[in-house]
Amino acid sequence: MLRKAIIIAVLIVAILTIVYFSFERAEAESQSSYITFKGVPKLYGNYDTAVIIRLDDFVADPYYISHGFPVIPGKSTKAYQEYELDLINYLINNHPEARLVFGIVTSDNSGENNTYIWNLYREVVEEYGWEAASHTRYHQPPPRNITDILGSLKDIEDNISGYTVHTYIPPYGKVTKNELSILRENGIKIVMSDKPYEITLPKNWYDVHISLKMSDRLPWIDILRLELSLAKYTKNGCIIIYTHPTSFDWKDPEQMIKAFNEMLNIVEKGNNWITTPYELYRYSEEQSSVSIKAINSTSFYVYFDRKLNFSSQDILPVTLVFQVSGKVTDVTANGIQLQKLNSFGYVPKEGYLIRGNLLYINIVPPKSINIVIDK
Ligand SMILES: [Zn+2]
Repeated sequence: MLRKAIIIAVLIVAILTIVYFSFERAEAESQSSYITFKGVPKLYGNYDTAVIIRLDDFVADPYYISHGFPVIPGKSTKAYQEYELDLINYLINNHPEARLVFGIVTSDNSGENNTYIWNLYREVVEEYGWEAASHTRYHQPPPRNITDILGSLKDIEDNISGYTVHTYIPPYGKVTKNELSILRENGIKIVMSDKPYEITLPKNWYDVHISLKMSDRLPWIDILRLELSLAKYTKNGCIIIYTHPTSFDWKDPEQMIKAFNEMLNIVEKGNNWITTPYELYRYSEEQSSVSIKAINSTSFYVYFDRKLNFSSQDILPVTLVFQVSGKVTDVTANGIQLQKLNSFGYVPKEGYLIRGNLLYINIVPPKSINIVIDK
């Protein structure tokens, strides 16, 4: 009995000692609180992999499909439109977070006869952050004439006011040297080919390869799972998933929509950043040119050390990582309180987020930031 009591007493003393010393230690650490800058991750929010979902053959003019669209002659206009419209409606209602890059075949129209479709394109671009890309005006094989190449840029920019096209998706996945230089001269930064296979960040944005094709004839789910785990292992890569919202790849719109739901569930379960080509392009440019200077132990100046290759209005927040000892109570940028975030989301936004002893600050440079720590 006595023996038992002694053992219990000894145990209590031991536990109290541990608790006491661990409090002491915690106190000692918080007294010497410090902030260490750890770097700027390759991808926004320190996501493992960027995922771009690319859809070709969006058709702005249904009339054109039954009267000269060279890809699928004989397919009915109605059926063609059902795929495209059903997919847009499904995604904005069920997966509003999933943003697409969609290649439009503009087919030489001012938009007057197709205001419904152009309004829908404007809506997904402005309200849902999709990226409208050119898929030429007439969907001809190379070599293409200048009207086919540049006409589509004009059609998109005329019909979606204030929008600038940055991405070109050549039909049949190929461009000639001449076409490429015309595109460069006209401000196109990204050309997406059909050449597989790429799961690294594009080094040459004029030749961005796809990684995965979705269709009813391919075991794409297994390939997607494999690619995502590979990309997670290599980290900071990019996966481009593509398909056509047409009977070219799917038996009917329902089958395509079911596949989209499965694909998005897999992608969103992992630490993947659903983004668009021009957004990823800008983030990468910014990431490689952002610099940080310590003003004092809690303040930093964040700036670009070279001129960016795009308009300053298009600058996105970049993610900075700090290791912090102590409790972060406030973060300010140019003296203004930053919003505390619970999650990064897919669209880069300013704010700060705490995960363990890491502090993530999303900010549009140039700015001075100050981190307030409770000691
Ligand atoms: Zn096409």
